[in-house]
Amino acid sequence: MSFSELGLSDKVIGAIDAAGYKTPTPIQEQAIPHVLARRDVLGIAQTGTGKTAAFVLPMLTMLEKGRARARMPRTLILEPTRELAAQVAESFEKYGKNHKLNVALIIGGVSFGDQDAKLLRGVDVLIATPGRLLDHSERGRLLLSGCELLIIDEADRMLDMGFIPDIERIGKLVPFTRQTLFFTATMPPEIQRIADNFLHNPVRVEVSKPATAASTITQLQVAVGREDFEKRATLRHLIDSAENFKNAIIFCNRKREVAVLHKSLVKHGYNAVALHGDLDQTSRTAALDAFRKGEAKLLIASDVAARGLDIPAVSHVFNFDVPHHPDDYVHRIGRTGRAGLTGTAISLVAPFDTKSVATIEKLMGMTIPWMGEPVAAAEPGERPARSGERSGRSGGRSRQPRGQRSQEGRSREPKPRREQPAPRAEHPAPHAEKAAPVRARESQPYRDRAPRETVEPDTSHLPAFLLRPVNIKA
Ligand code: AMP
Repeated sequence: MSFSELGLSDKVIGAIDAAGYKTPTPIQEQAIPHVLARRDVLGIAQTGTGKTAAFVLPMLTMLEKGRARARMPRTLILEPTRELAAQVAESFEKYGKNHKLNVALIIGGVSFGDQDAKLLRGVDVLIATPGRLLDHSERGRLLLSGCELLIIDEADRMLDMGFIPDIERIGKLVPFTRQTLFFTATMPPEIQRIADNFLHNPVRVEVSKPATAASTITQLQVAVGREDFEKRATLRHLIDSAENFKNAIIFCNRKREVAVLHKSLVKHGYNAVALHGDLDQTSRTAALDAFRKGEAKLLIASDVAARGLDIPAVSHVFNFDVPHHPDDYVHRIGRTGRAGLTGTAISLVAPFDTKSVATIEKLMGMTIPWMGEPVAAAEPGERPARSGERSGRSGGRSRQPRGQRSQEGRSREPKPRREQPAPRAEHPAPHAEKAAPVRARESQPYRDRAPRETVEPDTSHLPAFLLRPVNIKA
């Protein structure tokens, strides 16, 4: 099927040609005709499937008729993070190059003034994160009663980030008769409930099973010790010896680990940038830009910060920490092997990770091959050498009443859960005495630590296979 058969306008077809797209992706082919027919759509698709264009292209076509009124946006797109919102705004520039539509980006972390001026001028497409949108609405600067089309993107990530109460509030501000498009990568029961609430007789479009990783991704796991310094040494070796290495995203479960690993890699001379929820917007944007342009070869990220971002052509993904939720694994490794390119995803598996790996393998319906010897599973009752903030879903956070939260210029992005102090001092892990001096140092807060001495601990304990060059089959 070609784009011209989908019912899109000539202006949109012109922009698609200019973008160099030859054929619609499956989600575009299946969703666009229904969107144009004003049906509600439930789209189950991950980023990388072309889902953004699946809603932006028909929106542009539909918006050609009609005009925006002051403070009353005609359409609303909700995104869980500022980066995703900015990415969708960029899509409007690309696909809407033949249109003269007013697109406004309403995200936290930037001043209200400019956003307010844009809303006053009249907006055809409003792209927003939920918290900042509600702030504008509460100030009486925004009326959603003229909104004809509501798009909820990355709904499962909204759930992870505790945005569902906000989404439900927004749902009450838009007209009952609007059209709704609802996109999610996974369908947990809570998301199904929200979808049932928001959608009227929707068309369900599912492009690939959420748990299916692209066949172009080679997945591997490698055994590592309990200690972080061992994991860092193994990671460096894997990076140095990886075949066809172009660039990599390295995932950690905790924002603190992102910062520590970033500092360590930079110190070892790697060109690395970090992305986690505690960085300010300027640093996040600068890090992403540097990685996208190839100025930085390594991006170290937490799940919350990286989910859904469109970073093309990543050759490798490393799971520095095995994620606790198998869905996060699918999302992480989906950063590589995109658009038909081959990619490699390697997970560093410590003794305490074997349970998480088993859950991942169950979801994926496969056994992830080992590079070298498998890890020895932890003894029952043995505790991890470190603990703290866990990634993954919370099932919704309790939020303060709105009146107490709204502040000019304050970021409304949810803060990842607070890190808990490592429990080691009170409950030292068995078998961990040998490495105690190193761990004591590792457990200090990152910013308080004196610069490291020149060398990392001896890595002679590493298995021999790690000291040989790696041949990864694409
Ligand atoms: P998305 O899933 O929306 O994040 O899109 C993933 C990537 O696919 C983006 O970089 C798009 O530019 C690209 N893309 C979207 N639709 C097509 C298409 N029909 N043909 C080729 N590339 C596309």
